[in-house]
Amino acid sequence: MSQANQPGRPKVIVAGGSLGGLAAGLELLAAGCDVSVFERSARVLDDRGAGIVMQAETMHLLRKYKLADEHTAGVWSRFRQYLDQTGHGNPAPSQQLMTSWGLLYGKLRSAFPAERYHEGRAVAGFESDAGGVTVTTADGGTERADLLVGADGSRSVIRQRLFPDVKPTYSGYVAWRGVVPEAAAGADLLRVFAGRFTFFQMERSHILCYLIPGPGGEVAEGQRRLNWVWYWNVPAADLPALMTGRDGRERDFSVPPGQARPELVEAQREIARTRLAPPFAALVEATAEPFVQPILDLAVPRMAVGRVCLVGDAAFIPRPHTAASTSKAAGNAIALGEAVAAHPADLDAALRAWEPEQLGIGRDLARHGKMLGDRSQFPER
Ligand SMILES: Cc1cc2nc3c(=O)[nH]c(=O)nc-3n(C[C@H](O)[C@H](O)[C@H](O)COP(=O)(O)OP(=O)(O)OC[C@H]3O[C@@H](n4cnc5c(N)ncnc54)[C@H](O)[C@@H]3O)c2cc1C
Repeated sequence: MSQANQPGRPKVIVAGGSLGGLAAGLELLAAGCDVSVFERSARVLDDRGAGIVMQAETMHLLRKYKLADEHTAGVWSRFRQYLDQTGHGNPAPSQQLMTSWGLLYGKLRSAFPAERYHEGRAVAGFESDAGGVTVTTADGGTERADLLVGADGSRSVIRQRLFPDVKPTYSGYVAWRGVVPEAAAGADLLRVFAGRFTFFQMERSHILCYLIPGPGGEVAEGQRRLNWVWYWNVPAADLPALMTGRDGRERDFSVPPGQARPELVEAQREIARTRLAPPFAALVEATAEPFVQPILDLAVPRMAVGRVCLVGDAAFIPRPHTAASTSKAAGNAIALGEAVAAHPADLDAALRAWEPEQLGIGRDLARHGKMLGDRSQFPER
């Protein structure tokens, strides 16, 4: 087989430098590849306050690259509780490490060689042939690679090129989300939520809260943040209005903090006052800039076509109830590194070995997440 540039050292371009792209970049470097990450965004990616439940694959990467251990990788939740309408819960022991998108990004980014990470370089397209891939970038450049990894997220241009008919579909509900700095939360909220993974279930909806690291990855008491997610049904016809920000721009994947229109935030706060258990209503009230993400479904029929493969959200978007999007991206990357290391002189064989199990994992997660989400939001289905 022919491999561009350095014989014996496959050249890999990873499109997308978020968690999936960094994980793939690190694992393929470790497998002996000559890796470049092209990230569309020209500035350091912003975590928007997103909490992430730590799973084994993600922790494995942090340990492997000596980036964090179980004391520094997040905030421990020691109990799980379900509040009743009065706000009373019965905490039961249940250990879970809670982290944040920002902490994971910062750690993985610090481990990946800066000279291989190209910010502000968007992949615009590619041409695949038997020996590799010619990648074109939005700045008009072209690059030759043996393998192109599409880690470019839910709107992946790589996926659109491979499977033009496969598009994310709206599930029928959104996540209202927010964070409150621990220092601003007040003793009453901390008494209920600190150290606990807390839920409140109601008809066709539920809200949850757990503590996550501070904006700079701080895990010490006093510097953490209360992170909440509230799943709320919104008919598809009403989605464009909800997704239109203060600047008048309609977004398809997220209305970021500071952009949700005040009248919509106030309407959701009013629902919170009447429907949520008092501690959750107070939490929503205390959130300066709630934000909205529609819950989407996406599943590709293949993850490897020729010398192009898809990892993370570019391939599957499991519903967030699985708490597995990030770990699935990490798992895709770990398995890809292992497959390439096992077939160092034959990338086609590596991709053939890698794809079936990863497709199976993606499909299982997609099915399971849909079941969990629909059971809560649309019990009649
Ligand atoms: C703001 C935000 C909040 C999230 N919250 C959670 C959460 O709470 N829990 C959870 O488990 N998961 C969450 N996720 C999803 C989780 O982060 C992803 O599952 C995980 O990061 C793996 O995704 P990814 O790297 O495949 O895609 P993404 O994180 O979407 O990253 C895709 C990257 O590709 C870049 N890109 C896009 N197009 C191009 C192109 N043409 N060329 C080059 N680069 C391109 C983007 O700028 C981005 O950096 C969140 C993601 C985001 C972005």
